[in-house]
Amino acid sequence: MNDDSLRLVWVYPDLLSTYGDQGNALVVERRARQRGYDVTRVDVRSDQPVPASADIYLIGGGEDRPQRLAAERLRRDGGLNRAAANGAIIFSVCAGYQILGHEFINDLDRQEPGLGLLDVTSGRGQAGRCVGDVLADIDPQLGLPQLTGFENHQGVTHLGPTAKPLARVRFGHGNGTGDGTEGAWNGNVFGTYMHGPVLARNPQIADLLIRLALESAGLAPVDDRWYEALRNERIAAASAAH
Ligand code: GLN
Repeated sequence: MNDDSLRLVWVYPDLLSTYGDQGNALVVERRARQRGYDVTRVDVRSDQPVPASADIYLIGGGEDRPQRLAAERLRRDGGLNRAAANGAIIFSVCAGYQILGHEFINDLDRQEPGLGLLDVTSGRGQAGRCVGDVLADIDPQLGLPQLTGFENHQGVTHLGPTAKPLARVRFGHGNGTGDGTEGAWNGNVFGTYMHGPVLARNPQIADLLIRLALESAGLAPVDDRWYEALRNERIAAASAAH
């Protein structure tokens, strides 16, 4: 990236934005601007090529059919894989997370190949959907505060040997395999089942993505009082329910 400009791509808002995922793009954009960085945000629809030259890519959640269409188009396009090969930061939520893995079960109950950018494989859970509040301790290697979010997914995700759990749940299902893990990451590629939108609920992750893109050790603090109020409210509500 240029020293003072960040290129942000929101992938396929027409297919993968069922749960307010635009909020994730808004939060990254705003928190970079608050630190004085110029942000160029491009929303790439599924009939457009995904540029390979951006710094941060966001890919959101979706229902089963749009998820299959998105996977087909992303495989055909190849732009997101080229971006990953260029070292871009990729952050994915739920359907987007499953698409970044090796495969998932599609709306036709068939195995659908993913992009292979994360060493994870998703199948269908045997129990009902995983729905509800999540409270999770993020991987200590990432050094960030506890995460909160809301999950709603049928798929369950198994981590392969090179994927690290993004977090471990205190409440909620996370990856849904019963091992207590939530999401996955490896290098610059991240996936989570948490909605919220997750970066509005956990702006510390937005800052992590910006720091990685800037290759910066730290960012200037910003006023997070509203975020702290939301966070405390959600932790209290989730705790009361468990
Ligand atoms: N369709 C996927 C599932 O149910 C992803 C759902 C989502 O993005 N919330 O597992």
